[in-house]
Amino acid sequence: MILPILNHPDPRLAKAAPESGGVTSDLQILAADLLETMYAAPGRGLAATQVGREARMFVMDTSDWQDGGRRQPYVCIDPEITEQGSETASEDEGCLSIPGINASVERPETVTLAWTDLSGNRQTEELSGAKARVAQHEIDHLDGKLILDRIDPAERERLEAASAE
Ligand code: ZN
Repeated sequence: MILPILNHPDPRLAKAAPESGGVTSDLQILAADLLETMYAAPGRGLAATQVGREARMFVMDTSDWQDGGRRQPYVCIDPEITEQGSETASEDEGCLSIPGINASVERPETVTLAWTDLSGNRQTEELSGAKARVAQHEIDHLDGKLILDRIDPAERERLEAASAE
């Protein structure tokens, strides 16, 4: 089922999501809905908080599925960055909850991500490139943070004024 995506400044986007603590059938249904919603948007990542659900879970797919490639979905429950590389990079990021805005965000280029998969198993993977960036963006959502919270206040003001027009 395609779910409505909340738009900034909905206050629910600023709330941190509580740990899920395990996999329930509700979470499995939500995961399928998040993937369907992300692919339909289309987007490369979507967090449960973006559809108003208080679950610590995000989905992402940074493969070339939009150009006809095979889908490679990740469903990450209770995700956590356990290590991050010392090199950072700034890149433009968009967000399905802030349509029409791109902001340059500085983040570590590589991170180690730990998460619980849909079978309830804990997974760990070293991520780089788009995967590392999207995973960090989605974990920010689960902490109630948006890309607007990651840029300097003057730039934020400029972008918000532009999007309000
Ligand atoms: Zn986002």
